[in-house]
Amino acid sequence: MEKFDVTIIGSGPGGYVAAIRAAQLGLKTAIIEKDKELGGTCLNVGCIPSKALLASSDHFVFAKKEAGKHGIVLDNVGLDLGKMLGRKDKVVKTLTGGVRALMKGNKVTVYQGMGSITAAGHVTIKPTEGDAQEIESTNIIIASGSVPVELPSMPFDGKTIVSSTEALCFEKAPEKFLVIGGGAIGLELGSVWSRLGSEVTVLEFLPRIALGFDLELANLLQRSLTAQGMTFHLETKVESVKVLEGGRAVAKAKKGDEELSFEADKVLVSVGRRAFAEGVVDKKIGVELDERGRIKVDPHFRTNVEGIYAIGDVIAGPMLAHKAEEEGIACVENIAGKSGHVNYDVIPGIIYTNPELAGVGITEDFAKEKGMNVRIGKFPFRANGRALANEDAEGMVKFVADAETDRLIGAHILSHAASELIAETVAVMEFGGSSEDLGRTVHAHPTLSEAVKEAALSVDKRAIHIGNR
Ligand code: FAD
Repeated sequence: MEKFDVTIIGSGPGGYVAAIRAAQLGLKTAIIEKDKELGGTCLNVGCIPSKALLASSDHFVFAKKEAGKHGIVLDNVGLDLGKMLGRKDKVVKTLTGGVRALMKGNKVTVYQGMGSITAAGHVTIKPTEGDAQEIESTNIIIASGSVPVELPSMPFDGKTIVSSTEALCFEKAPEKFLVIGGGAIGLELGSVWSRLGSEVTVLEFLPRIALGFDLELANLLQRSLTAQGMTFHLETKVESVKVLEGGRAVAKAKKGDEELSFEADKVLVSVGRRAFAEGVVDKKIGVELDERGRIKVDPHFRTNVEGIYAIGDVIAGPMLAHKAEEEGIACVENIAGKSGHVNYDVIPGIIYTNPELAGVGITEDFAKEKGMNVRIGKFPFRANGRALANEDAEGMVKFVADAETDRLIGAHILSHAASELIAETVAVMEFGGSSEDLGRTVHAHPTLSEAVKEAALSVDKRAIHIGNR
C-alpha cells in the first residue's frame, strides 16, 4: 500500500495550493479529485469561467455603447455567443491543465476518484471507472469545498431553475432572466446576461444588495447596475418558483403585504453555497461538524481527530478562493512544524461587476453600528485625472481608520479597477499601516491609484484634488 506524508481530498484552490506547498516542504504528497479535471469549483465552474464571461460581455458593451465616446465607429456590432462560451471553456482548460502540470512538476501523486477517510491514516479512493484502492497517509487534509444551496420551494432542474454552474453556459441569452439573491454570484451572472441582451430582474430578501460590503458603495453599485438595465426588488421574499409547460417559470414573491409574480425563461437561484463534506469521512471516525454542516477546526486547521485537517469552503469563514489557498498553505506549514497563519481581518472580497466593488476589513456602517471611534476618508474617481481620461470615472475609494491610532481598519473601492486597486490597501493593512503612511506614499501620476492615496489623505481632511469637509 502506498504511503504518504500528506494526502489532500479535493483539488480546488485550497487543495491544490496545499499540495504544492507540501511538496515544496519536502513532504510526500497525494491529491484526490472526484471530478475529471483538477481545479475545483473555482477553476471549473466558479471564479475563472465567470470572469471570462464578465470580460467578454464587458467588451461587447464597450463595442456597442462606449466605443463611440472615444470616437471609434463600430457598426453592426454582433454577438457570437458560441465563440464567447468557447473562449471561456478554453481559458478553463488552460488553467486546469496548468494545475495538472504543476502537480507533475512538484511530484504530487494525483488520484482520480471519490476519496473517503475510512480510518485514521487510511483513505479509500473509488475512481469513476475501475477498482477502489487504498492509501496510507500520516496527515489528511479535507478540502472538499462547497456546493450551491438548493431551496425546497425552487429545486434545481438544470434547465429552467438553475445554479451558477448552468448559468455559465446558456446556449442563448434568456429573454427574461430572474436572479434570486443579490450577492456576488447573482450580481456577476446577472450582469453577464444583462450585457448580452437579457432582461434581468434581481430579487433580494434584504433591504440592500451585496451584504458584507460597504453599504454606501453597495447602494451606488445598485444604482449603476440599474442604469445599465437591471431591475432590483429588495425586501422581496421569493416563496416558490414553478416551471410551466413549455419551460418558462413563474416565481411568486412577497414584498411586505404585496404579492408579486415574475415570469422568466431562466431562474438563477444564487442564495449562497453550503459546505460539502458528504462521503468524505466515514461516520464512525467522528469528525465533528458545526450546526451548518461545516467541518470544525481549531486555529491550526486540526479537526477533533488526530491527523485529520480541513481547509477552504468546507470550514467556517468567507467562501473565497484566496481564503482557501491561504488556509491550505498555513495548514501544511503547521504540519511541517512551521508557524502557518491566516490573518482573517484582512481578507478582501470582490464583486466583479462593472464597476467592481471591493472591500477589506471593517465597513463604515459596521463601525457606526458598533459605536467604534473611527474616521472616514473618501475620494471620488470623478476627481481623478486617469479615470476621466479612461472615461471610467464612476465610484470612489473609502477608508475607515481608527480615530485614535490612525491605523487603517477598512478599505472599500467602487471602480472598474477595484479588484486590482484593493491589493495595495490590503498590503498596507497587513503591515498595520495608517492613513498617514498611505497618504505619504508616492503614487505614480496619472493612475487610478492616486485616488487611493487621496482617500487616505482625506481621513485627515487633506485630500488635494477635492474640497475637504
Ligand atoms: P472547491 O473549489 O469547491 O474544490 C473542492 C474540490 O473537492 C472539488 O473539485 C470537488 O470535486 C472535490 N471533492 C469533494 N469531495 C471529494 C471527495 N470525497 N473526493 C475527491 N474529491 C472531492 N471566489 C473568489 O475568491 N473569487 C471569485 O471571483 C469567485 N467567483 C465565484 C464564482 C462562482 C460562479 C462560484 C460558484 C464561486 C466563486 N468563488 C469565487 C468561490 C470559490 O470558487 C470557492 O471559494 C473556492 O473554489 C473554494 O475552494 P476549495 O478548495 O475550498 O473548494
